[in-house]
Amino acid sequence: MTGEWGAAVRRLVLAGAILLVLGLWQGRPFVFLLVGALAYLLWNLFNLYRLDRWITDPAEGNPPDVPGIWGHVIYSIAAIQRKSRKQKKRMAKLLVEFRKSTEAMPDAAVVLDKQDQISWFNSAATRLLGLASGRDLGQRIDNLLRAPGFRNYLQNRDFDQPLLMASPVRDDVLLSARIIPYGKGQRLLLARDITERARLERMRTDFVANASHELRTPITVLTGYLESMHHDPELAAQWQIPVEEMHRQAQRMDRLVTDLLELSRLEAADTQIKAVPIDMETLLHDVLRDVSNLRDHMPEMSVSIASNAMLLGEPSGLRSVCQNLLSNAVRYTPADGRIEIGWRADANGGQLWVDDTGAGIEAEHVDRITERFYRGDAGRSRDSGGTGLGLAIVKHVLELHDASLEIASEPGRGSTFTCRFPSGRIASSTNA
Ligand code: ADP
Repeated sequence: MTGEWGAAVRRLVLAGAILLVLGLWQGRPFVFLLVGALAYLLWNLFNLYRLDRWITDPAEGNPPDVPGIWGHVIYSIAAIQRKSRKQKKRMAKLLVEFRKSTEAMPDAAVVLDKQDQISWFNSAATRLLGLASGRDLGQRIDNLLRAPGFRNYLQNRDFDQPLLMASPVRDDVLLSARIIPYGKGQRLLLARDITERARLERMRTDFVANASHELRTPITVLTGYLESMHHDPELAAQWQIPVEEMHRQAQRMDRLVTDLLELSRLEAADTQIKAVPIDMETLLHDVLRDVSNLRDHMPEMSVSIASNAMLLGEPSGLRSVCQNLLSNAVRYTPADGRIEIGWRADANGGQLWVDDTGAGIEAEHVDRITERFYRGDAGRSRDSGGTGLGLAIVKHVLELHDASLEIASEPGRGSTFTCRFPSGRIASSTNA
C-alpha cells in the first residue's frame, strides 16, 4: 500500500473512532456512524463527478484540485494523459513523414486488407494504376485491375516472381507488379514502371539477333573456302597450319553465331511453347548418335530409360538441351571415363539426366556456369570448341518448359546434370 493509501485509511479509521466516541457520549453511536458514512459517501460521489467531468469534457482544462487519495488518482490519470498526448503527436508526425515519403516514391503502392479491398494507396498508384482516392478506397482491387493475368496472380497466392502487365491507364506502359504479404492477412501491392528497361532489353536482344544474322553469311562463305583449302592437296606446306587454324576458328565463329541465334530465338519466344509428346528413348538415342564422333577417342556412353512416359515439350528445344548437356559431358570427360544419359518419370514429374565421370566443376563456379559466356575453365572450354553459351541455352529452354536444372559435381570425380520437369509435362501413359 502506498503512503497516500495508508494515510487515507488512517484518516478514515480516526474519523470513525471520533464519531463512535461522540455517538457513545450522546447515547446514539449508530446514528453518528451512519451520518459519518453518508457524508463520506457524498464526498466521494462529488469527487467522482468532478473527475468524470474533467475526463469527458476536454474544455475543462486543468485537473480538479482535490486533496487526499482522490488528488493522487487524478494526478496519475493526468500523467498518463500527458504521456499519451505526446505519443499521439509523435505518431502523427511519423504518419506525415511516411505519407510524404510514399508520395515521393515513383512506384505505385497499394495497401490491401484480408478481403483484397483497398485500404490506402499513394499518388503513383493513381498515375500508374488509375486508382482515384474518393472513388476506389474500400473497393476490391480485382474489380479495378481486371487483366486476367492479375486476377490469376492474386488468386494463386504465389508471389515469388513479379507479374508483368500493361498499365490499365496506358497500354504502352509496362508494369512489374509484386504483392508482399504482411501483418494478419494484409498485403502490399507494389507496381513499377519498367517500360524503359523493357525497351532497352528488347534493343539489346534485337541487336544480338540482327548482328548474328548478318554475320551468318560471311562466316558461312569463309568456312566454305577454308574447308576446301584445308582439303586441297596442292596447298603450299607453309599454309597448311595457318589454314587449319583459320578453319578451326571459323567453325568456332559459326557455332557462336548458331548459339547466339538460338538464344535470341528462345528469348523472343512467347512464354507459351507448342508442346507435343516426345518419345524420350528415341530422342536420347538420336542425340547419342549425333555426338558420337565429336572426338577421336570417345568415353564409353550409354542410355538408361527407366520409364516409357512421354515428355510434353518442344522437340527442337529439348533436342538442344540433350545435345548441349551430352556434348559438354563428352568434352569434359577423358577417353577412359563413362557417360550416361537417362530418363525417368513418376507421378511427381520427370527427370532427364546426364551423368559423367569427367573433370567435375569447382563449387565456386557451379552457381554461375549457366550464365552466358561464364566458363569454369576458359582455356579448356575454348580448346574443346565451347562457346560458353550451351548451359545458358539449356536453362532458357527448361524455363520455357517450367523445368529446373540441378547440378551436382565433384572436381576430379564427375558431374550430374538433372533437368526436373513438373508432372504436368508428363504424358499420361506414365509407366515408371
Ligand atoms: P562451354 O561451351 O564453355 O562448355 P557451357 O555453357 O556449355 O559452355 O558450360 C559452361 C561451363 O560449365 C563450361 O565452361 C565448364 O566449365 C562447365 N561445364 C559444363 N558441363 C560440364 C561437365 N559435364 N563437366 C565439367 N564442367 C562442365
